[in-house]
Amino acid sequence: LIMQVIQSMSEFARSKKVKLQCVKSKPIYIVADQKRIRQVLINLISNGIKYSKEEASEKYVKLSAETHQDSVIISVADNGIGIEKQHQNKIFEKFFRADSVFDYRTEGTGLGLAISKEIVELHGGQIWFESKPHEGTVFYVKIPQGE
Ligand code: ATP
Ligand code: MG
Repeated sequence: LIMQVIQSMSEFARSKKVKLQCVKSKPIYIVADQKRIRQVLINLISNGIKYSKEEASEKYVKLSAETHQDSVIISVADNGIGIEKQHQNKIFEKFFRADSVFDYRTEGTGLGLAISKEIVELHGGQIWFESKPHEGTVFYVKIPQGE
């Protein structure tokens, strides 16, 4: 699924000169709503691409997946604009978009992360992130493998 989504977004990544890659792992199986998990991945990857630094040269969005006990943890890391401290507790709210994204002339409604959180939590999972303003952001999605 991760490889499929990366494939489907490679054109968008190329247009923004962002290298989109996945760290190889053994196949990991989970019981989940494929369509919804795809939607989460698309949002996290498109955020990583959209909120890259326009002027930077080695822009990337890197995915990895690993198992931890009976869950899979997917990470989506970018070296983009990052999220200011004062915005970090708001990004999962519906319609919230940080001021900085307007400077970058990106488009969005501010719903992607609110929807992603809902989907992940309906799977009994968690979503969180670590971010350094002007350096980059890593989102983590943890989902129980199920059955
Ligand atoms: P939509 O996803 O609905 O098209 P959006 O991308 O603005 O619009 P979210 O995905 O919910 O909305 O993200 C909310 C806000 O969080 C973004 O507008 C941006 O300010 C911030 N954000 C999210 N991901 C990143 C990231 N990878 N790097 C920097 N800022 C981010
Ligand atoms: Mg988004």
